[in-house]
Amino acid sequence: NFERVVARFPFHDALIEAAPVPGADARRWSYTKMNDDVDRLARALLASGVAKGDRVGIWSPNCAEWTLLQYATAKAGAILVNVNPAYRSHELEFVVKQNGMRMLVAAPSDRNSDYVGMARQALAGCPDLRELVFLPDYGMDGLDAGGPQSDAELTYAELLKRADAVGHSGLKARMAELDPHDPINLQYTSGTTGFPKGATLTHHNILNNGYSIGELLGYTEHDRVVIPVPFYHCFGMVIGNLAALSHGAATIIPGRGFTPAAALEAVQDFGGTSLYGVPTMFIAELALPDFSSYDLATLRTGVMAGSVCPIDVMNRVISEMHMVDVAICYGMTETSPVSTMTRNGDTLQHRTETVGRTMPRLENQIVDPGTGEVLERGEIGELCTRGYAVMAGYWDQPETTAEAIDTDRWMHTGDLARMDDEGYVVIEGRIKDLVIRGGENIYPREIEEFLYSHPSIQDVQVIGVPDARYGEELMACIILTAGAEPLDAAAVAEFCRGKLAHYKIPRYVDVRESFPMTVSGKIRKVEMREEAVARLG
Ligand code: ATP
Ligand code: MG
Repeated sequence: NFERVVARFPFHDALIEAAPVPGADARRWSYTKMNDDVDRLARALLASGVAKGDRVGIWSPNCAEWTLLQYATAKAGAILVNVNPAYRSHELEFVVKQNGMRMLVAAPSDRNSDYVGMARQALAGCPDLRELVFLPDYGMDGLDAGGPQSDAELTYAELLKRADAVGHSGLKARMAELDPHDPINLQYTSGTTGFPKGATLTHHNILNNGYSIGELLGYTEHDRVVIPVPFYHCFGMVIGNLAALSHGAATIIPGRGFTPAAALEAVQDFGGTSLYGVPTMFIAELALPDFSSYDLATLRTGVMAGSVCPIDVMNRVISEMHMVDVAICYGMTETSPVSTMTRNGDTLQHRTETVGRTMPRLENQIVDPGTGEVLERGEIGELCTRGYAVMAGYWDQPETTAEAIDTDRWMHTGDLARMDDEGYVVIEGRIKDLVIRGGENIYPREIEEFLYSHPSIQDVQVIGVPDARYGEELMACIILTAGAEPLDAAAVAEFCRGKLAHYKIPRYVDVRESFPMTVSGKIRKVEMREEAVARLG
């Protein structure tokens, strides 16, 4: 519980925003100051008529107010809705309508994104949305919002002024009505395999998961956790902020978006002990021309998640960034998110080939996706997760929830995995991506990994396309390295012959410029299959 941590470490740093805009001073909150500001914001929400269970959205890149609102909605009993800052008006309106959002707190517009204009459009188009709050722009070189255009618009400062109308006793009374199993947070999945679904998470779900992650990372009040990954995703908000603050550590926000230099500067300037990122972020940091001039000696740990990390990157993160205890996490929005994680002391191989072992107080099992039978260790099947971290359900989608969570409370992840005798889990890909050709199960990842070794192939995705004779046939979608000669199916088959079983050799090859992606950077194979089907007729 946040207030217990505040009482233990009143004057420790809780939140530091390195530089809201380039060249500006850092903004700092001790635990006491943060708690005061959170209470004020929570009282302002109550004064605005936000009832228990009302949805309050936040649509902004990382900033201190994002975190203050996270804790204020929790205290006010509202449900914080994380809206991806990369969303545009169509996606924003989908999310606002899907959960009947009442208030939206939006970022100031900047060069890349007209948040203000798109939020106004949503206000006009969504009847449940009653108020828009605009975050301050700190003199950012952005577009001018031109002041409030209607009674339904207010600035963050105006929102805070409303707090005067509700006393501390009012907030205490609201908090007394709350239960750990009340929903606190609505997070939409990435939409990799279809439309985003709103995972409804409770205090109990995310606080316990965050605390447990921090425990495995060994966080104490002396840690300073640098978070360049987005707060709108569990990675920033739970694995990052909640893991840190539930142990009295400080959260450090390097800047609004990700730049490799800002992340390393934040480590250097604030004595970061832990650094987060997806593998490509670490690759970008290591590739900075002046990488060796940063003082990163305070680092000891961090978290890498989202996809598999190449071994040489992992080696450099450990030896050159001093992150000897860097952890790999696996999970999904629906499981708060972390269900497996590597531990301090795991080998390099564990941290590059597996996603670690099941989190304490959670269960994982591998089942046959057809029969639901639990499989032997080492066999590939669907990973299912059970325990405190499993979401309450998908918002307003009881059928989809029932398909995902069975009557024994197992969450079916849709991921294919195997577990070894010691309990380490290896992710093999998604069930929806599994190809069944003439009764043989084919895991695209295996073929993709083999094809990467071809010098002309920069990137490759393998998909299944319908086939009258075999049910499905394989297609390799290839992005060529710059200047490479074009490849056709015969050339690819020649490359595979003798190295892969005959049924794993792609029948079709499609050379493309790019792959369709979700806003969070995952490849949408569903769309590639639809395109391929249309093209093959
Ligand atoms: P949608 O459910 O809308 O199709 P999504 O599953 O991509 O989108 P998220 O909840 O953000 O949405 O992502 C969870 C998925 O990401 C997991 O089910 C898994 O497929 C993948 N994943 C997460 N962590 C790892 C990891 N460490 N290694 C490999 N894959 C991972
Ligand atoms: Mg998913």
